[in-house]
Amino acid sequence: MANVKADPGSVPAEPSPPQTSQNTTPRFSSSAVSVVFLLGGPGSGKGTQSTNLVRDYGFIHLSAGDLLRAEQARPGSQYGDLIKSYIREGTIVPMEITVALLSNAMADALEKQSLSASESAGKKARFLIDGFPRKLDQAVFFEDTVCLSEFTLFLNCPEDVMETRLLKRGETSGRDDDNAESIRKRFRVFVDTSMPVVHAFEKQGKVVSVEATGSVEEVYAHVKEGIEARGIHPV
Ligand code: ADP
Ligand code: AMP
Repeated sequence: MANVKADPGSVPAEPSPPQTSQNTTPRFSSSAVSVVFLLGGPGSGKGTQSTNLVRDYGFIHLSAGDLLRAEQARPGSQYGDLIKSYIREGTIVPMEITVALLSNAMADALEKQSLSASESAGKKARFLIDGFPRKLDQAVFFEDTVCLSEFTLFLNCPEDVMETRLLKRGETSGRDDDNAESIRKRFRVFVDTSMPVVHAFEKQGKVVSVEATGSVEEVYAHVKEGIEARGIHPV
């Protein structure tokens, strides 16, 4: 993976079991960087609300799914086939790959920002990390080795609403996984694997939960209210 030279270390040839360490220093300091995770079931509106949040709050948006699709499509990627099959099955890509892609994308964004230093002088870079962490191991690994999160914005949406949206999106998205069978699998993975992450952060008082069933504007009004109560204000 030529382009993916991450801290924590480079992406291994074969993803290894989760490794976490109490003694690791995160790559990015919380005094320089603020990280908000964005979670919700497939089709809950994460990408849609991210566009609004980038426009109004100056977030740098990183989507785990977009980064994985880009890596899958990158000529010469040793992970292309592996990522493709995980995505089609709706399962969780090994965290070493996903965390490395995110960590490198954060470093790239910070480097670009430092090139326009006068604009960003004295301000923390705000990252909105969409579709992550989808499994407890990657939550722990990311917070140990990349950066602590401020909180998780959770878009709460029933499956029937998400299914309708995804089937509609599938008419034009060209995505391998916007079909009825993949959608069903993604829902199961979300409930079984990703909801425990939301519950773990809830126990730490680090979840902003928003009803995501209304119109885009209605949902966004709830999102704004929720994040402003956590001290995030428009730029
Ligand atoms: P996610 O990133 O969570 O998978 P998207 O933001 O891509 O979800 O939204 C899934 C589909 O639903 C998209 O086609 C989007 O245009 C549509 N959509 C998003 N939010 C709403 C909403 N509040 N009401 C109706 N459709 C929506
Ligand atoms: P999304 O674009 O968020 O709908 O994600 C599409 C697919 O990419 C998921 O079904 C997973 O297979 C994979 N994926 C997205 N985010 C992650 C993540 N945080 N960890 C592992 N796999 C992911």
